[in-house]
Amino acid sequence: MSTIYNFSAGPAVLPKSVLEQARDEMVDWHGTGMSIMEMSHRGKDFTAIAHQAEADLRELLAIPENYKVLFLQGGATAQFAMVPMNLLRGKAGADYIDTGIWSDKAIKEARRYAQVNVAASSADHAYTYAPGQTAWQLDSNAAYVHYTPNETIGGVEFHWTPEVGNVPLVADMSSNVLSKPIDVSRFGVIYAGAQKNIGPAGLTIAIVREDLMGEAMPRTPTLYDYKVQADNGSMYNTPPTYAIYIAGLVFQLLKREGGLAAMEQRNIAKAKLLYDYLDASDFYHNPVAPENRSRMNVPFTLSNPALDAAFLQGAQQQGLLQLKGHALVGGMRASIYNAMPLEGVQALVNYMQDFVKKQG
Ligand code: PMP
Repeated sequence: MSTIYNFSAGPAVLPKSVLEQARDEMVDWHGTGMSIMEMSHRGKDFTAIAHQAEADLRELLAIPENYKVLFLQGGATAQFAMVPMNLLRGKAGADYIDTGIWSDKAIKEARRYAQVNVAASSADHAYTYAPGQTAWQLDSNAAYVHYTPNETIGGVEFHWTPEVGNVPLVADMSSNVLSKPIDVSRFGVIYAGAQKNIGPAGLTIAIVREDLMGEAMPRTPTLYDYKVQADNGSMYNTPPTYAIYIAGLVFQLLKREGGLAAMEQRNIAKAKLLYDYLDASDFYHNPVAPENRSRMNVPFTLSNPALDAAFLQGAQQQGLLQLKGHALVGGMRASIYNAMPLEGVQALVNYMQDFVKKQG
């Protein structure tokens, strides 16, 4: 089989070496005669896997001691509800920054529980930029400030961390977690669905500052209470064991490859290759303000949308898969997460050049 490059936004490409190791260990994990999938989550083998995964994630992100790492389910979408349920702590409202389809979904869910103040929005320019901090109308009495550091559909990324004083900052890092080093101490809660840069779908990671736990609103479902999850080592009920195992393999690989500083350098190089080509071309277009362009998700359109189907078909024939843009915005999108090698982006750019030439 010739080389395949998978540009899916998520579930997304995983490192081949991780998949190969999982394959080798699938049926008989380390001579136990069992698959991880068949083991009790409370047995010594699986608890060791979960502890190692947490330790490796803590090391990669340099997570301070006063933060809990939770392995949850329900995707980032469940966090849209869990965040207000846990963080309002008796307050009426929270600030939200509206930069695209995902922050809008977070806002809509939060409105079920909280008075949402949209402190800044880029809806005025079709979500093609990240509003600068000076434009934010923050409420000093807000329970927290929520933003989406990387909008997976719009391809808009914050390359800076907002300064929100003593109000806890909450970040939906679903699509750029582990793509670069971050200062966790700047955040109250960080959450991410696993299926882009971490591992398989079904696992959601939440990193929660300890002092923000323990005041969930009455009637919060037990499983949605961060404190219950923390007190039970994310095992109040059965966790997504196999997804945690795969995530753990990804964390070990990232450590071997030089950690998040090395990932960032690779991701910068990959994104530069693609954006430089897009900017030099009259045929393709990326609508995002240059300083807010995502290193993870690169949406682009063809000057003639009638050629979209031919573009996708030709790409598929070259082994360049899942480039179709999100149904809500159309066009194309190349997601170039950690597991996408530079060669994959180069292959895409080569194909894009050839496609233009073919149009004569
Ligand atoms: N937030 C962002 C930024 C996302 O990209 C996604 C998924 N594409 C979600 C939230 C929703 O995640 P999930 O499907 O895991 O609930």
